Amino acid sequence: MRLFVVCIMLSMVVSLVSADESPKQDPNEDVKLCTENLHAIGKAIKTYMEEHGEYPDWLSDLHDEHLSDKSILVCPADKTRGKVPYSRAVDPELPVSYSYEFFPDQRKSVEENRTMFGDVVSLVRCSHHMADKDLTTINLSFEYKVYNASYYWDQSLVQIYGSVEKAIDMLEMGFEKLPKNTRFFKMYPMLANLYVQSGRNVEADNLIKNYKTLIEPNNYSHVLYLGDMLKTIEHFDEELDLFLKFDEANPKNRYVLERIAKIYDDQGKAELALEYRKKYIPGLAYLGKMVPDFTATDLDGEPISIEAYRGKVLLVDFWAVWCGPCVAETPNMKKVYDTYKDKGFDILGISLDTDEKRLKEYLSKNDITWRQVFSGKGWDSPVSRQYEIFSIPNMWLIGKDGKLITNNARGEKLESLVVEALKDKTE
Ligand SMILES: [Zn+2]
Repeated sequence: MRLFVVCIMLSMVVSLVSADESPKQDPNEDVKLCTENLHAIGKAIKTYMEEHGEYPDWLSDLHDEHLSDKSILVCPADKTRGKVPYSRAVDPELPVSYSYEFFPDQRKSVEENRTMFGDVVSLVRCSHHMADKDLTTINLSFEYKVYNASYYWDQSLVQIYGSVEKAIDMLEMGFEKLPKNTRFFKMYPMLANLYVQSGRNVEADNLIKNYKTLIEPNNYSHVLYLGDMLKTIEHFDEELDLFLKFDEANPKNRYVLERIAKIYDDQGKAELALEYRKKYIPGLAYLGKMVPDFTATDLDGEPISIEAYRGKVLLVDFWAVWCGPCVAETPNMKKVYDTYKDKGFDILGISLDTDEKRLKEYLSKNDITWRQVFSGKGWDSPVSRQYEIFSIPNMWLIGKDGKLITNNARGEKLESLVVEALKDKTE
């Protein structure tokens, strides 16, 4: 998403710079022309169908017999002049801005979508008009109608169908045809929600009863949707019970712990929430306690452990070069390191990289001199396994006494945390 924001900002700069010479930069004009393009593409597909009896494999197949002007396949808002963003639908022949949803590899799942949702589903889609928070795409449906919908179109069914009641009708019809298709299980909570919105709670209850007969009790996403439905109809005790039982039967599932903590939060039971949170947020359990030591070797093969840093304030950084938010911390970490390294502060990197060369290149390019633990095993690195690290960045600040101060020493607050920790009372 960050890249996306940058793209949007760039395109704004472009439009400011070239506003004078190019009146086409008007977004409304772009939408109008794009809509015309989609209508023309729809017409071309229709005549192609009449001749061939089937859909084209790609939009370029329409050229030039059914679509003489190939520039119609390029949206005026497309700064790349012929690429489809966020889609595997890359036309093999021509520059095409539009995502042709019915390309061969995707045909089976789109056919299912048509069965479930009707011909309102998108056949061709333009994603070049999306703004940062407004993820609106312009679509040509299988009925050759042009409409706007969110990029996550199955979450905007009321918008697409025009009303809550119509959306309910369509989903009911879809579930009649494909009740057990697990791809559409996520639509059950959506239908329950629509029922509640229109005051049809009995139907929501019945839907839940029916859904319970379809799911696998140990499949977390199946259970998650059931939990969402119970929450929608405000059966909070049953929701909690569902996840507690799931946790009992599936002790390795971490997501359920998060959900249970959230439910306890909502109930105002902070202690129980924390108890569950400790189970899935690594480090929380050590807060204020000694962090157990590990044994490993650094990049030079030298033995290394937390014990060796006792008496210093130590930042243990679980990270990897491939982790964007991790490397985004580098400048700040370097600043704090340079300022306090001679005053009793140090950093120890626990790299979850698998590519040693890439790691070493990054370290030398960014002049990072603090030591690194590297095993090449990624998430399976013994040290990250020992501390149950399931997400990075994870930045632990350990006091001079070896006790964990925080498991979230990131960003602007890093420096003040370090300053505070360096003021050792026993000194
Ligand atoms: Zn467009």
